[in-house]
This record gives sequence, C-alpha cells and structure tokens, in this order.
Amino acid sequence: MRDLLQATTYRSDDGHSTDTSDGNGDISMRDHEQTPQSDEPDFGILFDVDGVLARGSTPLSAAVQAARLLLDSQGNLKVPVAFVTNACNRSHDKAKQIQDWLKLEVTPDMVIHAPTPARMLKEYHHKHVLVIGQEHRKEIAEDLGFVNTCTIEDVQEAYPLLDMVDHENRNVVAKGIFQDDPNFPRIEAILLIGEPILWETHLQLLIDLLLTEGKPSNPPESLSKVKQLPVIACNMDLVFMHQACMPRFGHGAFLVCLEALYKKITGKEMEYTALIGKPCEITYRYAEHVINDVAKRIGITRKIQKLYFIGDNPNVDIVGANLYDRYLKEIWQHRDNGNTPVSSLPLSRSIPDESDLYEQTVRSMKSLLVGTGVYKHDTEKTATDDDRDVYHGHRDIANEPELTTPSKFVPDVQLGIRHIFEVENYCPVST
Ligand SMILES: [Mg+2]
Repeated sequence: MRDLLQATTYRSDDGHSTDTSDGNGDISMRDHEQTPQSDEPDFGILFDVDGVLARGSTPLSAAVQAARLLLDSQGNLKVPVAFVTNACNRSHDKAKQIQDWLKLEVTPDMVIHAPTPARMLKEYHHKHVLVIGQEHRKEIAEDLGFVNTCTIEDVQEAYPLLDMVDHENRNVVAKGIFQDDPNFPRIEAILLIGEPILWETHLQLLIDLLLTEGKPSNPPESLSKVKQLPVIACNMDLVFMHQACMPRFGHGAFLVCLEALYKKITGKEMEYTALIGKPCEITYRYAEHVINDVAKRIGITRKIQKLYFIGDNPNVDIVGANLYDRYLKEIWQHRDNGNTPVSSLPLSRSIPDESDLYEQTVRSMKSLLVGTGVYKHDTEKTATDDDRDVYHGHRDIANEPELTTPSKFVPDVQLGIRHIFEVENYCPVST
C-alpha cells in the first residue's frame, strides 16, 4: 500500500516541489529529518467535498479562498490534507475536479471515496468477487486491487433460470432459449459499491448467492447450515439530496432491502464482513494513512498527532469523526498502559491489521461543521431535525444523537481553516 501511494509523486511537471530547498530540488527526506522544522504542523485536515468545497460541480468561493491558506509562498502545500467523500467515482476524475476548483495540486490518492478503504481488505482481492453498482464498477474494484471480478449480468447469463422477476426473461426461458453455464466459478465474496439499477433482479440473485454459498445451481440443503458469503458494503447513506424537492434513495436504501429479505427468508441477520465509507471508522483510519503519506511527501517530519475533519453533514461526517475519536481514545488507552490495543468495534466495523499502512500516530480527531451544505445553523427546520426524529443510520451503527455534535460550528471552510490554525497556533492568519 505504501508503495502504491508513494508511486504517485507529489512533484508536479510544472515545477512544484515537495521540498523546502532553495531551488536546486536536491534536499532529501533524510536532510529534513536531521534538521526538523519547528514550524511544521503536527496535524492534518480532512475535507468532505460536496457542501464544503462545492455544491454539485460549482466550487464555493470560501473554498477557493481557503485553499490559499494551505499553501506556502511558493504555492506548495504546507499542511497535509485529503478529501473524503461518500461518492463513488474514480479517484482520478475527482482529484482533477478538486484541483481545478482549488488551484492546488491534488493527486488521486488524496481522494478517498466510499469504496477506497477496500484496498485494505487484501484477503478478498484474489477471490472471485461479484461487484454491484453502476458505471465503472468493475474498474473501481480493479483500482482497489480486486483482480477476479464479475457483474450481475455475468451471473444472470450463467444461471438464466434465476431471474423470474424479469418477465421478459420468463418469456425467453419459456421458449427454451437458454443455457446454463455449469463451469461458472463459485462467487466467493460480494462487493456492494453503490446502488444498482434493476433492484429486483439484483435482490433476487444476491439472495440466491447468499443462500447457496455462491453457487446457485442447487438449492441449499438447510438454510440454517449455509455459511453466508462475505459481504462488503460501501456507503450506507440511506438517502441523498439532489435536485428533487425531497431526498433520493441512496445505497443504504438498497442495503435495507437486502437485509430485510435475507432476514425474512432465513430468519437470521445478514452479516457484513466490512462496512466502509463514512461514518465507519475504517474510512477515517485509511484517511489517517493518506494524511501521513501526504505529510511525508511535503517534507513534514513531525508525527501527525491530530486530525481535523471539516464536513457539512452532522449524521455522516461529524458522527464518523466522533466515532473515530472514540476509537482512537480506546486504542491509545491500551497502548499507553503498555497493552496490545484492542477495540470494541463490532465485527462489521473492525479495522483490519494492515502492515502496509503508515503507523498509527494520530491520537485525536476534531470535527468542524460548516453551514454551506446540508446543515443550516439556527434555522427552525432542517434535514437534520428529521434525522433526529427518525434514525436513518445503518443497523450496525447505534443511534447516538450526541455524536452529531461537532467540536465547533463554523460558517464556511475558510473560517474552519482559520480556526484550526488559531487553535494550533500555526502561522496565524491575519483577517
Ligand atoms: Mg457533504
């Protein structure tokens, strides 16, 4: 992993340098280590994207101004930053978009999408994995390290008798025009990247696979003895705001359907091998790794000990930041007492030991909530009020309304960065 991230150099073709040499570009990381800079930050900043840096595809002016605060006089990044979004694009595209908005160099590995932490789930990378989502789903999975993937269309083709919710397929089958593929390899894991289209077909076939340990050519002998396939789900957002007057179904809505059907049919809860994306802790752990990588690339030698998360959604960004802060406190309590760190996270939210990640150095995470997105400060009725009345979070994340409280509310991201610099006494910015 470290190699993978480091393969993307921070040095740009247009002469931007990662080092602090006086222009010859020869200063090495070791030189930095010998002469630590006292003005180096020991913190990093994570940004949510939509509602913090932009609305849709339009950058917010506060974000454009905020970006200047992050650069030194040569235009180089002076504070390690990364971007964490629950969207599901290819990182190259999003990195270019953010770079164009903010006029600062953003490499693809600085952008963490909902599925990105699946890079850490290496034990599944070589298994035969069914990838669910929409456009680019196979490419996204391959970018993450999955090398043996298939789609629902492949499963449909291999088992043409399964999809009887599709009446067109029923007609085809009635004419006898179909052929099973007995050699189609067993599905060994399911990667749910995002909501698909044709939910009924997906729900039917996913349940078939879950009931047959990935080989739906024969019925299960006993539902109680079936070993459930590993299921990895990215992004649990139940709904999202778009241009309609009301929120739209998100991936979390699809998961609710799948979980409900599985439970109705088997009497058991569907288990997740991993839930990834905000607000789950694994995403913030991966973001910590990325911040450490960016810090190394821009020549920071101090340990990164604090992370700040700037987001616009209390139920996702802020809950996640508070959950990660809680996780960090638990882990460090064990470490500080000389014990092996043990976390009490449920299995679906556990963080795999990942030796390729940078060592965990962050001890706390603070959250800043901005008012430029879904959260409206001091208004009578907001989307978040509704969410407090009815819990929209995922089944495996307990409803704890107090976790939606940020460390601080700031009107916009620029004021957020100014606040962080002030708290950290770091290059205080004149107003
Ligand atoms: Mg947002």
